[in-house]
Amino acid sequence: MARSLVVGNWKMNGSGETNRALVDFLVSGLDSIKADGTQGVEVAICPPFVYLSGLAERVAGSGLALGAQNLSHADSGAFTGEVSGHMLKDVGCQYVIVGHSERRHDYAETSELVASKYLQALKCGLQPILCVGETLEQRESGKTLDIIAEQIEAVVSLLNDQTSQMLIIAYEPVWAIGTGRTASPEQAQEVHAFIRNKIATLLGELAARKMKLLYGGSVKSSNAASLFQQADIDGGLVGGASLDGEEFLNICRAAL
Ligand code: PEP
Repeated sequence: MARSLVVGNWKMNGSGETNRALVDFLVSGLDSIKADGTQGVEVAICPPFVYLSGLAERVAGSGLALGAQNLSHADSGAFTGEVSGHMLKDVGCQYVIVGHSERRHDYAETSELVASKYLQALKCGLQPILCVGETLEQRESGKTLDIIAEQIEAVVSLLNDQTSQMLIIAYEPVWAIGTGRTASPEQAQEVHAFIRNKIATLLGELAARKMKLLYGGSVKSSNAASLFQQADIDGGLVGGASLDGEEFLNICRAAL
């Protein structure tokens, strides 16, 4: 079983001052979680691009890893406003989110573009976190598993033996993101089990076992434990609740 992972997606929130304070709070809080004798959870935060390098110094040597919320599909060049994976690696990122539903829907990112970003992240030495999920309309018309399969296949078809052994996928039903409406543990588990079986079929049992499968969508300290107890849920991708230090630490504790 994969070690649990909890990732905070800060989206476009915070200021230099509030972000520094939140990171300092999390770093000392995670120390005390580890002092409790439990080391079974990896924790990362994904602040906005402009704060990454400043926060990298603060998290250095702590139990808190740094990730970005997006990257360019390209190495470098005439891509005004974009940030490359090489730059993210350079400033100390370990993870990068690709295919978040806000990128797919608000910035028209297709599954093909998401797949090329996924590969680019690997090429730059970053661990991508691939987000997949269906809209409410797709769920209600019975298309959930088809949508998830399509989003996964676009990426998996580009992987090789080596890159397929380090998958992190976050199932984030679009209707549960930022809405306060969480998937029930049973609804989440059903899709997670589908994803793990799909990966086993496409990439083999080992890749399916080693993969980390995160749930995202209105995770809070009050619902985290029941979600994380599900057999195929290895942790969470947390948006709104990751902006509250105490709440986020309690979600991390629930993943132990
Ligand atoms: C997210 O944006 O990845 C997310 C899961 O948001 P929230 O926890 O706020 O629903």
